[in-house]
Amino acid sequence: MANYKNLIEKMINSYIISKGICDADIIGAIRSIPRHIFVEESFSELSYSDAPLPIGHKQTISGIYTAALMTSVLELNKNHKVLEIGTGSGYQTAILSNLASEVYTIERIRELSLKSRTILDGLNCKNITFIIGDGSIGFKEYAPYDRIIITACSPEIPKPLLDQLKDGGVMVMPLELDRKQNIYVIRKNSGKIEKKIIAPANFVKLIGKSGFAG
Ligand code: SAM
Repeated sequence: MANYKNLIEKMINSYIISKGICDADIIGAIRSIPRHIFVEESFSELSYSDAPLPIGHKQTISGIYTAALMTSVLELNKNHKVLEIGTGSGYQTAILSNLASEVYTIERIRELSLKSRTILDGLNCKNITFIIGDGSIGFKEYAPYDRIIITACSPEIPKPLLDQLKDGGVMVMPLELDRKQNIYVIRKNSGKIEKKIIAPANFVKLIGKSGFAG
């Protein structure tokens, strides 16, 4: 897609800066990632709109504002070890890879994980470990994590993930409570958990042992 750099600039202005996300590092990361390569070719143009789009297997790539918002609350730096649940297309993973030191990303659908790995290898993202499996139970082997991002909706905060979050760490995820879905920021401080709503949400379900039943 020849004109994608212009489309990225328009997307950044229309859906990110105009909605109050101005962090230069996040904008720099988004500017450097061609979003159309993460969606099917028939959705290439739409990939620079703010809509969630199908990525196969009844799953979606999140809208760009949602991806930027969830990234911004994590306040990432180059020392952070991040766990991502729901690799999906790999687009959010690419943003995390730009901003953090190490990224561990878990996807339950094998084909999506393999496809995203091919794309991210092509972008030369070297600090990502891909895991295929149930991310609702996290991944103890590399715990604890400074930051955790879950891009699928759960009926409760998965306990294994809270256990694998460092003290002082931040988690962001959609939760469905009382039939309403919202994005929550969850902070763990001296073992205490605080949670706060930051936006309404419309994510696919987190399916697994500590999520919804499949
Ligand atoms: N962040 C992704 C992107 O940028 O394309 C979008 C993620 S999509 C909204 C949610 C993903 O979570 C889907 O790919 C789905 O298969 C995955 N998922 C659902 N339950 C999961 C689980 N228990 N463990 C790992 N991945 C899961």
